[in-house]
Amino acid sequence: MERRITASQLYSHLTCPHRVAMDAFEDPARRDPVSPFVELLWERGSIYEKEVISGIGLAFLDLSGLQGDEKEAATREAITRGETLIYNGRLTVDELRGEPDLLRREGEGYAAIDIKSGAGEEGGDEDAGEDGKPKKTYGVQIALYTDLLERLGVSAGRYGYIWDVHGDELRYDLDAPLGPRTPSIGEIYQQARLEVSGTLDRSRTTRPAASSKCKQCVWRSTCLAEIKASNDLTLLPWLGRAIRDALIDQFPTVADLAAADVTRHIHKGKTDFKGVGADRLRKFQRRAQLAMDPGPKPYLTHPVAWPTAPVELFFDIETDPMRDLVYLHGFVIRESGDTSTERFIGIFAAAPTSEAEKKAFADAMAVFRQYPTAVVIHYSPYERTNFRKLQQRYPDVATAEEIEALYAPDKAFDLYERAARPGSEWPTMDFSVKSLAKFCGFKWRDTDPSGASSIEWFDRWAKTGEPALKQRLLDYNEDDCVAMRVVLDAMKTLAVRG
Ligand code: SF4
Repeated sequence: MERRITASQLYSHLTCPHRVAMDAFEDPARRDPVSPFVELLWERGSIYEKEVISGIGLAFLDLSGLQGDEKEAATREAITRGETLIYNGRLTVDELRGEPDLLRREGEGYAAIDIKSGAGEEGGDEDAGEDGKPKKTYGVQIALYTDLLERLGVSAGRYGYIWDVHGDELRYDLDAPLGPRTPSIGEIYQQARLEVSGTLDRSRTTRPAASSKCKQCVWRSTCLAEIKASNDLTLLPWLGRAIRDALIDQFPTVADLAAADVTRHIHKGKTDFKGVGADRLRKFQRRAQLAMDPGPKPYLTHPVAWPTAPVELFFDIETDPMRDLVYLHGFVIRESGDTSTERFIGIFAAAPTSEAEKKAFADAMAVFRQYPTAVVIHYSPYERTNFRKLQQRYPDVATAEEIEALYAPDKAFDLYERAARPGSEWPTMDFSVKSLAKFCGFKWRDTDPSGASSIEWFDRWAKTGEPALKQRLLDYNEDDCVAMRVVLDAMKTLAVRG
């Protein structure tokens, strides 16, 4: 079978190298259905591309109606003629094939442009005035198109562009290092191209590794079954592909790590394994031992100063990252530690608009102001980060000082950052509130409770106004709040083991 290296394979490879092998060689009948969330992302991407192209305001050659070899021939002819802008062409040279969204004539050659419905940079800090860096997953695709143009002798130079969701044109220079210790996009591409080539000709083997990426992947059931059957080290929390690959020769399974004498591999605080210090190796071994325990009990690794207040507000927000909206503020309110007093307040934006977002934010602030002595319990810094953003957007609703005071350590308790992550061990694959609450026996009413699914439900509600979808979101949010209470109460009863 003809196997070319494509831009989407490079993207997959950077996300999960095993995905390339699964797509190429696994029986398609074993694929899970594409998740509604991924379908929504595709739909968004395609709508955004159409919007950009229809509003381009320039003459361009549209090859989107052509397929396969016909498209390829038309692209090459257009380049030979010197067309200014070519939309949706295709180029194949040697083992490479690419379909750049646009090819733009610049000087004597062409530069590739990809239209993306996401931000074109990552890792910057707007408040600190720091620029982000090019995204590697986008960059390797631009590098592939540039490689094709170079092999054809028609490249304008070693760069290309991303047109991103903010309407910005971002130049990706392939030879500029991404950081003092991070190679350039061009180097990352060369490495990825060689590895994908090795995967496709089967000179290189890959293994599945459990990660958050698996949740949206069509191979999730197949890979998870394999990961469990092989008792793979990635079953342990925070032990990902890179560390697994560093440890696997010595400890092929969780059972091997649990039973090992790890002190043999520790020398003056360092270990024999790249990227794994002595403390981490011991921590992973404790996790492996907990995972292998037939009756595992979670425990605290040190005492925790639990919050005490007459009223607890278990607080969780829901957001739509695509519309950049905080649309739901959920509170479960408990008084005097008595669960029979528990009640839920769900403040849902009346419409997917900034006016409705502002009103919901104001209503949520009113609840906080109603309970000035309550402790606010949340899971991760996500709520605080979004409240800072809301405050900047709507400064007449609350002052920056009020938001900082709301989330100050004596007023709020981040159950994840202050207790679960630094101070406890659980026999679960991760420390998400979903995993921990499920371990404690809590069940969500929804059959598919996840942040990604909730984004898709909200999108449908925003388009249809369907009351059942709104209720589904409210129930999901309430269950997330109750789950936090379940985890908090369970953690307070755990033994401390050093
Ligand atoms: S399920 Fe996970 S390990 Fe398997 S291919 Fe997908 S992302 Fe990779």
